[in-house]
Amino acid sequence: MNRTTETSVTVIGLGLMGRALAGAFLKAGHPTTVWNRTSAKAGPLVAEGARLAPTVGDALRASPLTIICLTDYAAVRELLSESESESEPAGTTLINLTSGDSAQARDAARWAGQRGARYLDGAIMAVPPAIGTAEAVILHSGPQADFEAHKPVLDALGTVTYLGADPGLASLYDVAGLAMMWSVLNAWLQGTALVRTAGVDAATYAPFARQIAAVVADWLPGYADQVDRGSFPAEVSALETDVRAMAHLIEESEAAGVNAELPKLFKAMADRAIAAGHGGEQYPVLIEEFSKPGGD
Ligand code: NAP
Repeated sequence: MNRTTETSVTVIGLGLMGRALAGAFLKAGHPTTVWNRTSAKAGPLVAEGARLAPTVGDALRASPLTIICLTDYAAVRELLSESESESEPAGTTLINLTSGDSAQARDAARWAGQRGARYLDGAIMAVPPAIGTAEAVILHSGPQADFEAHKPVLDALGTVTYLGADPGLASLYDVAGLAMMWSVLNAWLQGTALVRTAGVDAATYAPFARQIAAVVADWLPGYADQVDRGSFPAEVSALETDVRAMAHLIEESEAAGVNAELPKLFKAMADRAIAAGHGGEQYPVLIEEFSKPGGD
């Protein structure tokens, strides 16, 4: 047995995700201590070799690394506060993989720091069945030395990534990823609603939609470069040309009796950018519209 598989780990919270996390650690050979408010959920993991801690304090003392994955940050704070009289979390590195926003993550890091605890925040960009495979991307932010110290153990969970010292970064990437996900899905649904009016079913349209999404994804590095330079020369297309195509999408949707709210929303943003004098520039100039509060 090598050193990595001898490193013990604790998982607090055995919901759908916590059970997948603990299962992946066990599968990789790490002695795994678990705790859950409803202890019955630990049964199958205990059958696979996990140790069920009798209390949260015992769970926190059991391993150099403790993963917490509860419903939300309020639950994490409540649980760790309750356990304070029993045990300071100072002896273990806490990695909080509970979903939330960046302010909650920074607040939790401050709270842990005040108690002398080492703390990293994380975000899971995967569903439970993917945990333990390379497909499961898990983001971390906080002190780099603590991440590096525990990376060999964390590797059991999937593709683990370090983003930076600001503990809010993992949550920030998490919500930014949600913007990407819903935008792609909404755009696909808009197109699907349109083609269905001509009797084309969703499955027929999906490969074409996927191809367009892949082509647009390939534009991102070059467009990101324009955003970072703050310079938007129309190398391929000018915003005023794009806006004419947006008008076609709106007209087509309205003529077909399909919802046009989404294309009207992005045309309104582009119209504002044109009114501000950016019609001759390339699409990423809209970053200026996206970087201020809506409607201003
Ligand atoms: P879940 O199945 O609903 O489990 C929630 C867990 O939180 C349970 O262990 C529950 O304990 C515990 N909990 C809630 N309030 C508590 C409290 N006040 N004190 C102690 N324990 C408390 O949810 P999940 O799917 O595992 O998700 C957990 C986290 O992972 C969430 O932040 C979620 O957003 C994130 N996540 C989930 C997925 C997914 O696909 N499931 C994907 C990415 C991220 P009991 O068992 O006693 O109720």
